[in-house]
This record gives sequence, structure tokens and C-alpha cells, in this order.
Amino acid sequence: MFISILSWIEEQKKSKTQNQNKNSEPGSLWTRCDNCGTILYIKHLKENQCICFACGYHLQMNSRERIKNLIDIDTWRPLDETLSPCNPIDFYDQKTYTERIQNAQERTKLQDAILTGTGLLDEIPVALGVMDFSFMGGSMGSVVGEKITRLIEHAAREGYVLILICASGGARMQEGVLSLMQMAKIASALNIYQSSANLLYFSILTSPTTGGVTASFAMLGDLIFAEPNALIGFAGRRVIEQTLQEKLPENFQTSEYLLDHGLCDLIIPRSFLKQALSETILIYKDTPYKRIGKLPKNIQRPFNLLTEERIRRKYINNKNCDNEIEFLENFSFIDFSDQFSILNKFIYNSSINIFEEIDSDNFQEFEQLSTMYKEILTSLNILLNKN
Ligand SMILES: [Zn+2]
Repeated sequence: MFISILSWIEEQKKSKTQNQNKNSEPGSLWTRCDNCGTILYIKHLKENQCICFACGYHLQMNSRERIKNLIDIDTWRPLDETLSPCNPIDFYDQKTYTERIQNAQERTKLQDAILTGTGLLDEIPVALGVMDFSFMGGSMGSVVGEKITRLIEHAAREGYVLILICASGGARMQEGVLSLMQMAKIASALNIYQSSANLLYFSILTSPTTGGVTASFAMLGDLIFAEPNALIGFAGRRVIEQTLQEKLPENFQTSEYLLDHGLCDLIIPRSFLKQALSETILIYKDTPYKRIGKLPKNIQRPFNLLTEERIRRKYINNKNCDNEIEFLENFSFIDFSDQFSILNKFIYNSSINIFEEIDSDNFQEFEQLSTMYKEILTSLNILLNKN
């Protein structure tokens, strides 16, 4: 196969700068741009969301920084923080898989290659999962799969908009078939979320998004956003070239190429991502002809912290009332027939009808409604006493 000398030199140069980056110590002050080689002051680079000042290239960003940039201050509530992988098939190469995990955990201070949780994005409650490429190449093992699945189920129960930020080398080979199974598990949880609950899922593709992640949830987004010039693909470029015996176009497997071929909806620079998300959600919220979602009975659960936070805000808005009864009247709690609308007011996305599964038997209906009613009153009472 013919490779021009110039492109070979170019490649060598590139891999050299990339290696230098990898060798730079965590405490160091300077780094190099992977694309143009410009020396960058890390502090300023982080303030600029890891975008190169010289060429606008989007450098890799860790999950905590991404959360910090997307979620409103002090509203992040992590989920399943303690889930940590074990070595289910006793895998070892030069080191055992357990050792590799421990090294990665010490280096990155993460349990596995993803952080999940809920928070407010421009005051909109969202469920967010952010993959971290620095933890074993962002590979998807059973913990990553489980955390994503739980996040999706949580979002479906609570009616949150779901956002997953992908950065992954694919399935984690050290867990063999167990990591491949995650693809099916996540996809079926997403099916309930998207097709039964009729909720909105954003998939954000960052560089690199490859392998099993591309083959499952990354490409299942209702809306798929990508960062500029991101590497997104399934198999590696060389593998495809050698299989097809064909030269692939220069920009093959970049987000621009995907956009041209209808595989993603929008390319958005990192600095505008938060705004783009919140504006899209707001437009979506007001769209007509939304169908009411139905949830399978077993995944409905009571209120969590964020729902309470919504109640608290409602309370603050009505705070100027003199006494509790007047305050509750403002909530229109007094009229029992208003139950449905009251509860829906607390659920940000009104497309979820939380009473869908209630038995038609009147007495039972009454009982369940009044339990809900009491729960809200109790939380309001606690809040009233606190303030
Ligand atoms: Zn640059």
C-alpha cells in the first residue's frame, strides 16, 4: 500500500506531539495543542473550556470540568457514586485487570469511566451522564453500562431530559462479553425512556466516540449533537481501508462528515453547548402534539431531591403569604379535584402522566392520590418550619 512520505512525516509529527502531551505530569503548568502544537497555559486553557486559543481545536476535557461547565452551581446530585468494577473473567495481560483499575482510579480519582447524576441546566432539571476518556480510554464495562442504565431509568421515572456525553474507545475488552451485553441493556432502557415515557434524549458526541458506544446509545439520541472535528466511528480507519481495499476521504469519521451524511443533527462548539441545550429543551417543551407517556408500573418511585427542589422554588415564589393556609391556597391544594394539575405542575415535563397506571377502582385511586397529597404537604411543612 502506498503512503506518501509527506503524510508519513506529518503523522510522525502528530504522534510525537500527542505523546508529549501524555507524558506531561498532572501538576504541570503548560501543555501543547494536539492539533497545531501551540504551547498553552493550562489555567487559561481550562478557563477557555479546553479549546486551543490558536486554532480552535477542542482538546480532551475531563468529566468533572464538563459537569462544571454545563450544570448550574451547587445543583449537581451524583448518582451511584460508589459503583466500582471487579474482575469478572479474571483477565490479565502484563498486569491483572484489577491492578489496571486501581491505577486508573488513583490517577483519575474516578470509580469508573463515567459520572452520572442530576442537576439544573439553566434552571431546567436534567439527568446527565458524562464519560471520561482518561479512565482506561473511556471504555464501557459493566459499571459504565449499569450506571447509564440506572440513570436512564431514573430520568424516565422523574421525567427528566436525558443528556449523555460520549467519549469512548468502545467496549472494555477486559470484561469480555459482559461489556458487550451493556449495549443491549442500555438500548432497552432507552427504548422505555424514548418510546414508552416519550421523553427527550440528547446524545453529545465528543472526540473520540468509537466502537460499542457508537454502536449503541451514542447513535440512539433523539437529537445528536457533536463537537467540531471530533473523531466518531465504529471500526478504525485502517481496518476499514484494508477491508474495502479503498482509499477513504480525508475527513472520514469526523463530525463534519457525519453531518453531511445525516448521522448527526448539529455541530456545536463547546462554548455554546449549554446554551444550545437549554434553548432546544425550551423549544421542545412548548411543542404541540406531544403524546402522553406511559411508564411500566415497576419503575415508578416517590419524589427525590430534585423534585423537592422544584417544590421549594414554588414555595419561594409564593413566600410573601402571611400564613400557611393562605400559602397552600396559592398552590391550590385545597380543592381536591385539582390534584392532577397540581402534581403535574411539579413535574417539569408535563408529558408524563404519573397516574397512568392507577387502578380504576375509585377507593384505591383516592387512597393513592391522598398519599401523594400528604407527601407533598409533608415536604412543604418541613420547608415551612425550616424557613
Ligand atoms: Zn491548536
